[in-house]
Amino acid sequence: MAIRDDFPILKREVNGFPLIYLDNAATTQKPQIVLDAMNEYYTSSNANVHRAVHTLAGEATEGYETCRQQLKNWFNAERVVMTSGTTEAINLVAHSWGRANLSAGDVIVLTEMEHHSDIVPWQMLAEERKIELRYIPVLEDFTLDMDIYAASLEGAKLVCVVHTSNVLGVRNPLEDIIQMAHANDTLVLVDAAQGVPHERIDFQECGADFMAFSAHKMCGPTGIGALLIDSEVFETMQPFMGGGDMIETVTVDGSTYQTDEHKFEAGTPRIAEAVGWSAALDWMSKLDLKKEHQRLIKIARWVAEQLRTMGMSVYGRHEELDSAVVSFLHPTIHSEDLAHLFDSRGFAVRTGHHCAQPLLNRLGIASTVRASFYLYNTIEEAQLFIEQLKEITERFG
Ligand code: PMP
Repeated sequence: MAIRDDFPILKREVNGFPLIYLDNAATTQKPQIVLDAMNEYYTSSNANVHRAVHTLAGEATEGYETCRQQLKNWFNAERVVMTSGTTEAINLVAHSWGRANLSAGDVIVLTEMEHHSDIVPWQMLAEERKIELRYIPVLEDFTLDMDIYAASLEGAKLVCVVHTSNVLGVRNPLEDIIQMAHANDTLVLVDAAQGVPHERIDFQECGADFMAFSAHKMCGPTGIGALLIDSEVFETMQPFMGGGDMIETVTVDGSTYQTDEHKFEAGTPRIAEAVGWSAALDWMSKLDLKKEHQRLIKIARWVAEQLRTMGMSVYGRHEELDSAVVSFLHPTIHSEDLAHLFDSRGFAVRTGHHCAQPLLNRLGIASTVRASFYLYNTIEEAQLFIEQLKEITERFG
């Protein structure tokens, strides 16, 4: 299969078995083209960006800014701030927009299915500013309670919602969520860490005010991500981190700041990572993502059905727009033990609370085993996964 051939890591063995990598919701593997691009950058163009006229600095700057431009094109976004990932992007909004716009008594609406990175920054701000946080509950069918959402908007300044849950794979009805928020003059931040890998999002069309995501979940390197900001909101925002590169002038009496995205990018940025991300976007742009997603959600649905037949508790619904993430619990084998048994057979699956403790609390569980599928996974791997689970259950269940 052509896609698999692009990923050298898939040829390795783990514990004497061929690697079957099903931990894609945590991070995805990197195609050779990404590794080559980063290696080539360090081998022949490495320099710091923006601050020099020499040739290498020009190449480094071009590499870095090309990634920004590619992201603008990919997401149809006017303002793309490069960050270290989703987490930093959300913290940027909390520090810059949040501190300037929120004060005691203001309301932020969150959901119970947020990742910790879209909860903790708001809790910190809430404590500092005496802001009220309202959480939209998750219903029995793993969807958000939209009635409570509608009622929670009263007085809300910001809604923070995950595009697609990293535990359930459920894709939230963002279009409705954003439209309802805007009708109430409430801004919306979308945590799209799990959305961008499987859906080509048009930022301006979707209408969100902020969108955060990481390169490493879409075949790019770790350590880099982006924050898309609505251009009008962008103009109102001030930097939260000071340093080199984000200024226009500095005197001992004070400084003025850049007015474009650089105002949020103090210090030496992630240049090699940007070059790698560009290569990943080039690679992904050659695929029919929609078709690949349909193939993957079919695999996830099949796995979920098999698991239910075997008596497992499955958390998620695996509808057409959901991501190919299957979270489950074995009736008799502890999650951690199950993950170890899988690892001893070459399978990488994740277990734990997946940085979504409020969601697991709502589900009344402490952990799940999570198998998440991505572009290079095949139905044959899914079949082997189920076969192994049957064998493990017979021996240890
Ligand atoms: N949000 C969601 C939904 C995620 O799945 C993750 C990564 N597990 C994050 C945020 C945080 O991403 P990062 O660690 O790359 O900042």
